[in-house]
Amino acid sequence: MLPTPSSRRGIVLILSSPSGAGKTTLTRMLLQDRDLDLTLSISVTTRTRRSSEVDGIHYSFIPERRFAAMRDAGELLEWAEVHGNFYGTPRGPVEDILAQGRDCLFDIDYQGTRQVREKMGADAVTVFILPPSMDELRARLERRAEDTRDAMARRLENARNEIARWKDYDYVIVNDDLQRAFDDLIAILRAERQRRPRRDKEIEQFVAKLLSE
Ligand code: 5GP
Repeated sequence: MLPTPSSRRGIVLILSSPSGAGKTTLTRMLLQDRDLDLTLSISVTTRTRRSSEVDGIHYSFIPERRFAAMRDAGELLEWAEVHGNFYGTPRGPVEDILAQGRDCLFDIDYQGTRQVREKMGADAVTVFILPPSMDELRARLERRAEDTRDAMARRLENARNEIARWKDYDYVIVNDDLQRAFDDLIAILRAERQRRPRRDKEIEQFVAKLLSE
């Protein structure tokens, strides 16, 4: 079991990938593992809800007018236009989680990742998930069959552009084996939680006590 975060600074763990690389499944696995104590940042989007999605759980689905108002009021930590729709991360819930010394999971694209990195520096840990092949990516999108033909073609086209951004990220995982990809993600999270200077306050207190013995 991982130690419960206490006085250390919270991490923003960002997962990005082209649609169909398995990021949603990996996100679900991370959230289902209670010991990891990760909280998902629920994005707002102007995209139409898919039948498998629940408003307020997968996204908050909002009209463009509301999105623009949130953005203009500075309520979004980052935002981007992806595949012709707007997506953004509400700032308030993330700040609350980090203030508790807990970690937050973001499922956002490379444009948003860049903005979060600029604002949060070392508190952001970024991971890019690659599909094992373009054929596999296409097959996964077809299996999902939740998008229109047009939307799927656009997603495949954008995938190449997104894949080319891999160097923007701290870590890259090729998802050819789901369990191994998941294990790698946990290893990254574990190591990052131990990393200096994230735990300096905690360690300073411990060392002071140690040396007073
Ligand atoms: P989908 O429409 O398939 O749910 O998501 C499309 C893309 O938008 C994915 O790459 C996803 O990571 C990205 N995305 C989802 N929420 C956000 C967000 O809040 N901000 C940004 N920048 N990208 C997001």
